[in-house]
Amino acid sequence: MSFEYAPAPESRDIVDLKPSYGLYVDGEFVEAKNTFKTINPATEETLAEVAEAGADDVDRAVAAARRAYDTVWGPMPGAERAKYLFRIARLIQERSRELAVLESIDNGKPIRESRDVDLPLVAAHFFYYAGWADKLPYAGFGPDPRPLGVAGQVIPWNFPLLMLAWKIAPALACGNTVVLKPAETTPLTALAFAEICAQAELPPGVVNILTGAGETGRALVEHPGVDKVAFTGSTEVGRQIARSVAGTGKRLTLELGGKAANIVFDDAPLDQAVEGIVNGIFFNQGHVCCAGSRLLAQESVADELLDRLKARMATLRVGDPLDKNTDVGAINSAAQLAKIRELSDSGEVEGATRWSPACELPERGFWFAPTVFTGVAASHRIAREEIFGPVLSVLTFRTPAEAVEKANNTPYGLSAGIWTDKGSRILWAAERLRAGVVWANTFNKFDPASPFGGYKESGFGREGGRHGLEAYLR
Ligand code: NAP
Ligand code: MG
Repeated sequence: MSFEYAPAPESRDIVDLKPSYGLYVDGEFVEAKNTFKTINPATEETLAEVAEAGADDVDRAVAAARRAYDTVWGPMPGAERAKYLFRIARLIQERSRELAVLESIDNGKPIRESRDVDLPLVAAHFFYYAGWADKLPYAGFGPDPRPLGVAGQVIPWNFPLLMLAWKIAPALACGNTVVLKPAETTPLTALAFAEICAQAELPPGVVNILTGAGETGRALVEHPGVDKVAFTGSTEVGRQIARSVAGTGKRLTLELGGKAANIVFDDAPLDQAVEGIVNGIFFNQGHVCCAGSRLLAQESVADELLDRLKARMATLRVGDPLDKNTDVGAINSAAQLAKIRELSDSGEVEGATRWSPACELPERGFWFAPTVFTGVAASHRIAREEIFGPVLSVLTFRTPAEAVEKANNTPYGLSAGIWTDKGSRILWAAERLRAGVVWANTFNKFDPASPFGGYKESGFGREGGRHGLEAYLR
């Protein structure tokens, strides 16, 4: 028996959307020559008009960040910087409901996730790095580690405020100043964060937010006044950035794509594994760099596992991101939806079997039903390329060695999952998996104290934990 749900929409009233937003430069909101619109991907309604930063705006923001670095933030004792970071963390907590709603309407992610995952992690990240600001000499990078200067940071749209926190919190804790560009489709929470910086009386120029598209990002990472580039996004753009930064003396960290294997051994607790698989690929509509997008099931349990997985998928509620009962929200943009469709169609053409539960998708907005492909071969595009959507590719294996070989058969190396009853097998497999994060009997668990990052084409450098400080220290 299944229960019917009544609608349980979260109110939008808590968000005070302005018709237009400027750039945040040197502690003030300023206008730019051009603007663009950001929409709600669940309804296609325009939310606001946002300034598009040009090359001269990038100049101004970098100059402001340099001034703030030289005169205020760089020389400030760590204990004083910490006070600002703690203040920012508390303001995020105070405004977390508003920020969660704003994130959900600009990005399309379910309120249950923005409220219970994104926002708590954002605040935790600032609290965590606030704690490091006065303890840098004890972080293992020498007795007097120095900041790098001005950091140019570019982030994607899948976890807009969380990626901002991953970038800004460690940079500021170490004494750097920043110019950050959020993604074109999700600029609103970064602008709310700019207000929070003002509310926290952060000295002008320490944080600058430049909204815009890829061109703005390019102008920022190529700016000669930037000492450090931190980028999260696609491997393709990451490569371009690595090329443009090469030989300039700028420090670089890249957090790129992934195609993680989630390995289920025959002794795994299957119902728990099913929850982990669902969380691994349908969390945030699968717009997750470390998503468990390849399920590797041991042959002897594969049929039973798939039956249980399909039964569970049939209970997923797809729809209004602001409904508190929604599990799967909207795809972030028309372009991303087209990419997911194209890759899924290729799966069928190449011979894999496609399945989705019956689910009614809203008429307006960008939607894609949770999908699973069986009969997937390692050569299929859906087994090799990052789909970045709610699409799971299932492969099988017979022996643990085969599982590891298949899991590592990818140009990426960001994350992996292992499901088994045996601790020794977890350790055996984890040692052999070429992935930055390996989860055992769980998936998509994040903690600010734990480093995160990739091998191979998933990038280099670590974010989070003590390791995350290294990217912002000399
Ligand atoms: P993307 O196209 O690479 O964009 C990422 C950011 O870079 C956006 O702000 C984008 O601006 C900007 N950008 C585009 N072209 C640029 C250029 N030439 N120079 C500088 N900046 C430029 O990636 P996406 O499609 O938004 O994000 C999805 C990708 O991010 C996936 O591959 C995913 O795996 C990866 N990701 C990785 C992690 C991680 O931690 N490893 C986390 C999240 C996402 P516009 O958006 O305005 O075009
Ligand atoms: Mg948007």
